[in-house]
Amino acid sequence: MKNVPLFINGEFSASQSQQHIAVTNPVNNKVIAQAPCATSTEVDMAVASAKEAFLSWREVPVPERARLMMNYQALLKKHHDEIAQILSSETGKTFADAKGDVWRGIEVVEQAANVCSMMMGETAENVARGIDTYSYIQPLGVCLGITPFNFPAMIPLWMFPMAIACGNTFVLKPSEQDPLTPTRLAELFVEAGAPKGVLNVVHGGKDQVQQLMTHDDVKAVSFVGSVPVGQHIYKTATDHMKRAQCFAGAKNHSVIMPDANKAHVLNNLVGASVGAAGQRCMAISVAVFVGDSKTWITELADLLKEVKPGLWDDKEAGFGPLISPQAKKRVLSLIQQGKDEGATCLVDGSEFELPGYEEGNWVGPTVFTDVTEKMAIYQQEIFGPVLCCMQVDTLEEAIALVNRNPYGNGTSIFTASGAAARKYQHEIEVGQVGINVPIPVPLPFFSFTGWKNSFYGDLHAYGKQAVRFYTETKTVTARWFEDDIPSGPNMTINLG
Ligand code: NAD
Repeated sequence: MKNVPLFINGEFSASQSQQHIAVTNPVNNKVIAQAPCATSTEVDMAVASAKEAFLSWREVPVPERARLMMNYQALLKKHHDEIAQILSSETGKTFADAKGDVWRGIEVVEQAANVCSMMMGETAENVARGIDTYSYIQPLGVCLGITPFNFPAMIPLWMFPMAIACGNTFVLKPSEQDPLTPTRLAELFVEAGAPKGVLNVVHGGKDQVQQLMTHDDVKAVSFVGSVPVGQHIYKTATDHMKRAQCFAGAKNHSVIMPDANKAHVLNNLVGASVGAAGQRCMAISVAVFVGDSKTWITELADLLKEVKPGLWDDKEAGFGPLISPQAKKRVLSLIQQGKDEGATCLVDGSEFELPGYEEGNWVGPTVFTDVTEKMAIYQQEIFGPVLCCMQVDTLEEAIALVNRNPYGNGTSIFTASGAAARKYQHEIEVGQVGINVPIPVPLPFFSFTGWKNSFYGDLHAYGKQAVRFYTETKTVTARWFEDDIPSGPNMTINLG
């Protein structure tokens, strides 16, 4: 049995805490490790270490910081399979999907290695006679990251590499459900050459988060997780005068126009809806069929019926189990509610069990049709392998439906019409739009830009917006005299 260490001031060490959370393998719920709930002293030590390290880290030249990220990227690539295997063991993700989770994080590290040009400020010569103005961006200090269970590699890597490349130091509080992957990420960061204290990792749950996000020495808070927790963290962090960005839940719609390529639509919707057991914040959980495209619903259901959950190393497996028995209970209860409220269940995965692994958190692909807006399966984020199909007559109705939904993480439209696609991208109130692309997650030279209840804050994750989030602008106005200082004081607000 592994005890998950804390990582404070460059040392991996056992927590003094008496309180632990069991980390389980979701295929059979066997306990594979114990994660400590860090003591209040340990949380303070992590912040103190990051604060101390900031004094020297902020002085490290930007290209040197970028070079650390280059080393880190190379090490992550070298250990890609090994990290993915750890990730599979604590999330149940298939190996291919676990590798994807790590890869999407590596791409952000690559972007962090390109931080130099993003750290450039602005200059204007002669803003007044002989006076120039220029701006720098400078790091904030200690930044905090609180991450969810569903991407234990990608989401920590959304945060600390960009923050640290910008010159900050970082405290990460990963999900207590899968802390082994982030621990390995931290070990490799040390191997890449990270100085002590630049990254710290503490484990635990809400008590540790509460202490961290209200800590006087924490300057910025990045959170990814569910809506209620995101709202709570945004309010608390901003009440404590922190800069905050909170990425929250989702209900992503895909709109299918009758002129779309049917095979392309069906193939894409299968993976986008139930891949990773539907535990992706960008999963398509609602398919909106416009006009005659509704005749494709049964074919889609037939394809989804063929997708089999399985073990991480089973190449035939479409996805793995849900993260926990509680998650499974929640998903099953929503499936039941869907049936009770009158939706038609075309494929029912609620009885699925993997032979030999009956104790695991399995739910098979599930497809509902005739879903209406009032139903719980439409209103709530299910976060399971469940696709809700709805039918409307026109593109305008589809747009209105998506815009009425309180979430705004991602959406997609399948169509052969440029005009329909243009109208959709322009009018839809969702932050990330795919056109004939089912899950429109932007690469890290853009930013991850959810809207509405899927995001609280102003500046988004990775890309240029992350650099803005993790830095402060300083503007300098300078005059250098060639001759003697001109006579007399200037009593006006003008520069001269
Ligand atoms: P969660 O909100 O339960 O937990 C997220 C983090 O918050 C964990 O580290 C947890 O320990 C901490 N936490 C939980 N309760 C807390 C409390 N009361 N006070 C302070 N901290 C608390 O989320 P989860 O179940 O781990 O992740 C799934 C959710 O994350 C889904 O809703 C999903 O849509 C969302 N998500 C969103 C994005 C996005 O980019 N918008 C990305 C991934 C996941």
